[in-house]
Amino acid sequence: MAPHNQSNTIDFDAAKLQRLGYARAAQQVLKPVSLGQLRQQLGMQLQTSLEVDRILELFFREVQRLVPLGALSYQLASCDLRLDLGERANHSAGYRLSHEGEYLGELVFRRNQRFSEDELGQLESLLASLLFPLRNALLYRAALQTALRDPLTETGNRIAMNQALQREIDLARRNLQPLSVLMLDIDHFKRINDTHGHITGDEVLKAVAGALKNSLRNIDMVFRYGGEEFMVLLSNTNREAAAMVGERLRMAILELQYLVENRAIDLTISIGCATLLPGESVDSLQRRADNALYVSKREGRNRLSMAG
Ligand code: GH3
Ligand code: MG
Ligand code: MG
Repeated sequence: MAPHNQSNTIDFDAAKLQRLGYARAAQQVLKPVSLGQLRQQLGMQLQTSLEVDRILELFFREVQRLVPLGALSYQLASCDLRLDLGERANHSAGYRLSHEGEYLGELVFRRNQRFSEDELGQLESLLASLLFPLRNALLYRAALQTALRDPLTETGNRIAMNQALQREIDLARRNLQPLSVLMLDIDHFKRINDTHGHITGDEVLKAVAGALKNSLRNIDMVFRYGGEEFMVLLSNTNREAAAMVGERLRMAILELQYLVENRAIDLTISIGCATLLPGESVDSLQRRADNALYVSKREGRNRLSMAG
């Protein structure tokens, strides 16, 4: 941070913060809204949403009734969360948010005019009203993500796949961009289970999913939709490019050295590839990819087929 910027660490467990806020409230009688009133209003308003974005937008807007701001940015790297509101400016005050030892992210206020001590006290006091709603929203977000993930392979589950398919089809139509899907099925997987047991089978599934994710740009677009069946959703990808990605994935699994008792087991996948047609439904796209996968199986496995 530049030398004129102010950075602070605040632990909201500290009762000191409460004192700070209330102590300064008395000086604000001439302002359009008092600190106490604003805290009370914020407390209610921020509880009206469980979305992190929405809560921070409300907070940013409401805080400015008391302290003028240029921008607010929030970041929680562990949850892949980042939000920037307003315009960047050269003075900043940053806070590390935590509650009962639980880290809730970094929040930075910015504007072109230096923050006074009084204003910093007000901001700190108002941050206390953000804490519970923010923590609830983060918990809710984590619960949603758990509901959409396959715990074994850490890919998206079937629910996530259906949501993503519909969303990506809508986006592709709106932006006039191509969209392709790959359906992948591990060849003779039953044999692996039968020969080495289910536990090894599970480990192989994990290894295959890992190899798929490592070979893709956007790992959020890999879904496990059946026992040993995966779907890869390729946004803004035409037929030829999708075939190339599919071949790359097929090679990645072929070259995967998964050792059982020091011996690499034979692992291959069959793939069906389909590209969205104008006006096509989710079901039809999936059916065409599935038919292409079936062709790959019938023609000897360890190959990719294009949908007609
Ligand atoms: P093909 O090449 O035709 O796809 O043959 P396959 O043996 O892979 O296909 P099949 O559909 O006959 O068998 C799939 C097997 O996958 C059967 C099932 O026991 C196994 N399976 C499904 N889910 C899991 C899982 O979560 N863990 C393990 N270990 N095995 C699973
Ligand atoms: Mg199968
Ligand atoms: Mg199979």
